[in-house]
Amino acid sequence: MAREVDTSIEALAELIGSAERVVALTGAGVSVPSGIPDFRTPGVGIWAEVDPMKVATIDAFHRDTKAFWEFYRPRFEMLADKQPNPAHFALAELEQRGRLEAVITQNIDRLHGVAGTRELIEVHGSVATSSCTACGSSWPLAEVDALFEDDGIAICTGCGGKVKPDVILFGELLPVAEIERARELAESADLMLCVGSSLEVFPAAGLPEVTLEAGGRIAILTQSSTPYDREASVRLDGDVAEQLPALVRAVDALAAQ
Ligand code: ZN
Repeated sequence: MAREVDTSIEALAELIGSAERVVALTGAGVSVPSGIPDFRTPGVGIWAEVDPMKVATIDAFHRDTKAFWEFYRPRFEMLADKQPNPAHFALAELEQRGRLEAVITQNIDRLHGVAGTRELIEVHGSVATSSCTACGSSWPLAEVDALFEDDGIAICTGCGGKVKPDVILFGELLPVAEIERARELAESADLMLCVGSSLEVFPAAGLPEVTLEAGGRIAILTQSSTPYDREASVRLDGDVAEQLPALVRAVDALAAQ
């Protein structure tokens, strides 16, 4: 059955205004305006030169920690300098206004947290901290560089164990508590606002379905096509750093009426 899909920011603002529980689900596209390339794009960015399935895996971390960090350390340093963009700030503002319950993100760049989002579920972990794989001691991103020894491996200052970024590597299980919380949020949402994700990678790929099956709606703001485009109540495909701040203004204008 053909159905009209709204493509205006005003329509999305009305949807948010009438919803009781709104949850955002974000992917790499929300961080592109911060200068972080979508690393899954073939032949682009940091994955272009190496096969991440060989170096950015939990097996590689344990088997050849030096090679792992040779790959991961420049990436770490690149991310440490990045700042949130207007899309991140807009989502934090929606939360402050009581219009957004939580942000679920696939991104590991910690920028939602830096922008001020409080209820943040990072389903793939985050570079915000790294932890000792032996004793669990943890360091913030800015302090990890000091842990590297001459051989290029980050070592715990307490017990001498290997330190690993708190991101979910290929071959690692996703964090159970975060996945469970994301499912709960998706199920109870009247509206899931999907931003900058192609909605093709688990677990993000399954969450809009959870919302739809529970009777909620979904809105999609991303430039790539997604498997959910036909089921979206609102579909936007502009620049997230322009459209999300415009959405906040439209929500405010609606509330002022
Ligand atoms: Zn330790």
